[in-house]
Amino acid sequence: MNSIIIIGSGPAAYTAAIYAARANYNPLIFEGEIIGGQLTTTTIVENYPGFEDGIDGKLLMDNLRKQVLKLLDNSRLIQENVTRINTSIFPFEVFVNEDIYKTCSIIIATGATAKKLDIPGGETYWNKGISACAVCDGFLPIFRNKPLAVVGGGDSACEEALHLSKFASKIYLCVRKNCLRASKIMQQRVLKNEKIEILFNTEIIEALGDKKLQSIQIINNLNNFKEYLNVNGLFYAIGHSPNIDFLDSNILCDANGYILTTNTKTNIPGIFACGDVQDNIYRQAITAAASGCMAALECEKYLENI
Ligand code: NDP
Repeated sequence: MNSIIIIGSGPAAYTAAIYAARANYNPLIFEGEIIGGQLTTTTIVENYPGFEDGIDGKLLMDNLRKQVLKLLDNSRLIQENVTRINTSIFPFEVFVNEDIYKTCSIIIATGATAKKLDIPGGETYWNKGISACAVCDGFLPIFRNKPLAVVGGGDSACEEALHLSKFASKIYLCVRKNCLRASKIMQQRVLKNEKIEILFNTEIIEALGDKKLQSIQIINNLNNFKEYLNVNGLFYAIGHSPNIDFLDSNILCDANGYILTTNTKTNIPGIFACGDVQDNIYRQAITAAASGCMAALECEKYLENI
């Protein structure tokens, strides 16, 4: 029987693992089949404190994992996807296909997946001009003083466009409807920003370039007029999906599927959640890591009292 099972392999999961291991709980970690989380899909991370020149996202995650392996035996890190959990009984059950692992507590840190557009060229230029995180990538030299496009009409899209306006020469905000969904204050900020041009009723249908993205083809969905926009960057801000497929129905989530937490505690004592799977506001590596620490400390408190 396990004291703590951690599910995930991003900054939240590994930070929780470091704290739990140092508290002598010998956690078992299901890292998933693809380890490292969203940071491994980005290039340089320049907003994680402590690295004056930034750090490659994959390297940061490799380092975090190595730090965990200094504290835990290799056998405690399992590269499998959790398929189901059962929180109706105690000890809780964690399923990996037919295998069942029993545990007194679970820390869920499975993150969220940025939604991508399914367009020709979308995969070719992923990380070569196309990104889903302006905060992570917007500062890169390939976007400096260049025209860029952001797709989406929510708060994230507005925030990304505003953030990018500090570096780019121009930003096209491509919105598929005739209005923004974002909060009024964000809309006002975007409307006031001279570098941002909002293209309503606009959908992106293709990404083009050579080695890097150079343009996108857009279509006006009212009159079907197509045109090319020369842009060196395309940023998706069309929402994230929290990775919660394996949860049972006991764990409360909000309308978008994010796990509801209070200081990382879910509605079920002994089940904790940290990182992007419970955070649809900040979604930063540093906030994920910090909430991983919180989840481990809350979990320790819980284990001391059962
Ligand atoms: P939202 O779900 O609010 O918005 C997603 C946007 O993407 C919508 O405009 C939607 O269009 C558009 N979209 C979705 N799919 C496609 C597609 N295939 N093609 C083109 N456009 C598409 O997500 P956000 O990430 O913006 O926000 C999520 C939550 O986080 C919200 O509650 C938001 O308020 C919050 N948030 C708050 C922030 C803040 O307070 N500073 C910052 C960022 C997020 P349509 O409107 O047509 O459906």
